[in-house]
Amino acid sequence: MWENNVRHVTPYVPGEQPGDDAVNRVIKLNTNEMPYPPSPKVMDALRAFDYTKLRLYPSTDAAPLREAIAAREGVDSDEVFIGVGSDDVLSMAFLTFFNSARPVIFPDITYSFYDVWADVYRIPYETKALDDDLHIVKSDYLCENGGIVIANPNAPTGISADADIDIIEEIVAANRSVVVIVDEAYVDFGGETVLPLISRYDNLLVVRTFSKSRAFAGVRIGYAMGDRKLIRYLNDVKYSINSYTMSRLAIELGVASLSDEEYFRRTVSMVVSTREWCAAELRKRGFAVTDSKTNFLFASPVSFMSAGSLYEALRARNIYVRWWDRPRIRDWLRISVGTDEEMRAFLEAVDDISGRAI
Ligand code: PMP
Repeated sequence: MWENNVRHVTPYVPGEQPGDDAVNRVIKLNTNEMPYPPSPKVMDALRAFDYTKLRLYPSTDAAPLREAIAAREGVDSDEVFIGVGSDDVLSMAFLTFFNSARPVIFPDITYSFYDVWADVYRIPYETKALDDDLHIVKSDYLCENGGIVIANPNAPTGISADADIDIIEEIVAANRSVVVIVDEAYVDFGGETVLPLISRYDNLLVVRTFSKSRAFAGVRIGYAMGDRKLIRYLNDVKYSINSYTMSRLAIELGVASLSDEEYFRRTVSMVVSTREWCAAELRKRGFAVTDSKTNFLFASPVSFMSAGSLYEALRARNIYVRWWDRPRIRDWLRISVGTDEEMRAFLEAVDDISGRAI
């Protein structure tokens, strides 16, 4: 009978992580990881790390990392909140800011963790359909609501609201009585940020991650920037759950990553060039491909085969991409951008599967 008292939830399903023994056999294009390692300065920091310090609790507010992020982004350190990946930051933000009987709103096609957090925290929510070109419809976000979440660039579509960045500002401006979260997990790959707006709108929270552009998915660092009052409320909730979220190691490695801007820019621009080349190759092969500003491509093969069967056939060849059997997106695959070599192998597999040579 105790099961009647359990918090029943349907968890988020992350992309498959092959075990360490399989990792060399698999071309892993399913969780938007960076194909290049973190900066060599991170390796230096790892080597220099004093393991005896591990017996001591870390800084509760990850102060050195918070200050380094603040310096890079041109904000004050009390406008920065740090968490264990942006999933942790977003989850804390849902818990802190969405406490209304009115529904939180976000697009129907977006990061599929948002509805999971809403469910686990018992937050009412409503999704708003993106238009046929997969863009946000501004008027949908001008109704009464308990908060708003927008991923920009969006996932899994890859589309950035560059042309309509003003639309996001209008949504933030029209919703001053609730918090608007803009999830910028992929912004470093060419999207436009709304960060400059945080000084004008105290209801805007911008969330970022080290997982993609800084090749830190395995370290787990995410952060949010916003008005210091927003950050204070986030900290109140965080300190009510777990004071020491960021390990000493994560803090030191994060600071080291931020110290190498040149490496960051170079590796991000390598991913962007590979993305553009691979998108063109996919279009040549008859795929519909969105204009991605991220480190993944959203591509539909339905002019020649179903996305589900291409997904399965790639998987059988040890090439992992992501496919969701869900309304509106079941004709599409999300393909993380790997190295040129990985993408060549992926394209060859596509040709082999479709029986066509290009
Ligand atoms: N937001 C979006 C839109 C994402 O795609 C992801 C990656 N799954 C995240 C947030 C979370 O990434 P992380 O927790 O690794 O920072």
